Amino acid sequence: MPPPFAAVYFDCDSTLSTIEGVDELLQGIDPVLRAEIQALTERAMNGDLPLAEVYATRLQRLAPRRAQLDAIGALYVARLVPDALATIAALQHLGKHTGIVSGGLLPPVQHVAQALGIPAANVHAVPIAFAADGSYLDFDRQSPLWRNGGKVEVLRALPQGHRPLAFVGDGATDLETQGTAERFVGFGGVVARPIVQQKAEVFVATRSLAGVLPAVLTEAEQRALAADPRFAALLSAAGR
Ligand SMILES: [Mg+2]
Repeated sequence: MPPPFAAVYFDCDSTLSTIEGVDELLQGIDPVLRAEIQALTERAMNGDLPLAEVYATRLQRLAPRRAQLDAIGALYVARLVPDALATIAALQHLGKHTGIVSGGLLPPVQHVAQALGIPAANVHAVPIAFAADGSYLDFDRQSPLWRNGGKVEVLRALPQGHRPLAFVGDGATDLETQGTAERFVGFGGVVARPIVQQKAEVFVATRSLAGVLPAVLTEAEQRALAADPRFAALLSAAGR
């Protein structure tokens, strides 16, 4: 379905931020375990392995502490994709709801939302329980987001005012939203995944997140941005 859309939602890792939170958690652990977990993660993101098979094993082995996840959150923010902040601001300026649906862990994803001005109510990721001393207890197994199809479930449950909706993401679980989101935009500006590139109805591979704007806005909305000095440069960044 063509624009206009009432909302634009984004994946987090390799879409709003150039890092993969899980990869960062792997720094400093045993290299053999690290290689094993990285291989599992890569297979899940490429759609070769069910996400749930990877998720529980990975978190149990990593057992991240609260402080580690806050550090990942800070790193997500330090490594935002170029023009992420201005792109979100432009969408909000046009009256659109913005949100995040991530299979990542909620505490670090909240840092990204806060940095980008995305309302907490529109942030969906996997909650974590910690012990009083900040050590890892478990992730929220009620969350749909650690399984394939979880993003579709979350999108279906969004407020009616957020439809029609565009979803932007880089991975196989993002691609699953195609057909549920009124428009899916594959984003290859950080990592271009062949399955997403082949199957996405729209695929954008600019380094700048502004590259997705032409895919989610009407021409009138793009003209409105071009006429505003705060956002005019952003549209020319859309081609980079
Ligand atoms: Mg991603």
